[in-house]
Amino acid sequence: MTVRGLHKSFGPNEVLKGIDADVAEGEVVCVIGPSGSGKSTFLRCLNKLEDITAGHVVVDGFDLADPTVDINQVRRSIGMVFQHFNLFPHMTVAENIMLAPVELKKATKAEARKQALELLQRVGLAEKADARPASLSGGQKQRVAIARALAMNPGIMLFDEATSALDPEMVGEVLQVIRDLAEEGMTMVLVTHEMGFAREVGDRVLFMADGVICEEGSPAELFGNPRQARTQEFLSKVL
Ligand code: ADP
Ligand code: MG
Repeated sequence: MTVRGLHKSFGPNEVLKGIDADVAEGEVVCVIGPSGSGKSTFLRCLNKLEDITAGHVVVDGFDLADPTVDINQVRRSIGMVFQHFNLFPHMTVAENIMLAPVELKKATKAEARKQALELLQRVGLAEKADARPASLSGGQKQRVAIARALAMNPGIMLFDEATSALDPEMVGEVLQVIRDLAEEGMTMVLVTHEMGFAREVGDRVLFMADGVICEEGSPAELFGNPRQARTQEFLSKVL
């Protein structure tokens, strides 16, 4: 994925002020920064949940800024996991995971069920296939949401503070699933408040402030030896 000169405004409010970034295949890029700096907006531009005001986001050779690009096609190749899981309450866990592949005719119901069971195995929830979301803990719901995103076989996964809404004792189980994906070579962009986790699994860390990438580097560089005053100030508050 290549991002060049990305600008995003909401009316007169310019939220992203020219972002350049690259995410290589298999790379795990963590995005950190203060609240309101544009991290979620950045992530949402990467799968066109937001229209891009100016600039380019090129995924698999498709430019999301090009109005002729089939955005549904692009979006299917990008999985996204949010802070709140948004599972459908009237469906079972397996049905939630099967929904997109069946609706988009990527799989028959039988194939989608088989894949859902495999994905649930992968996130440690094989026994919950026929449970309702309401009977699950927050950590389990988020693991189902990750399985649901994986069901489309995305080439890249975006996580927007996937553990922020969880009780502390459930953070670890969700981070473990993300860690496993990283080890399997999944390309990922993670917006996170978990600095220890960013340091551990990130290949690269982007520090965003006021709609720009203020500083980027390896976790060792960025956390160990931040160069910008803004970065130092932020890290002094969160580490
Ligand atoms: P972060 O995720 O870093 O906390 P956001 O990307 O959520 O930051 O928000 C950055 C700025 O963009 C905020 O000032 C927010 O009010 C504004 N913003 C985000 N989404 C919208 C929207 N849909 N309409 C108007 N303003 C928005
Ligand atoms: Mg946010």
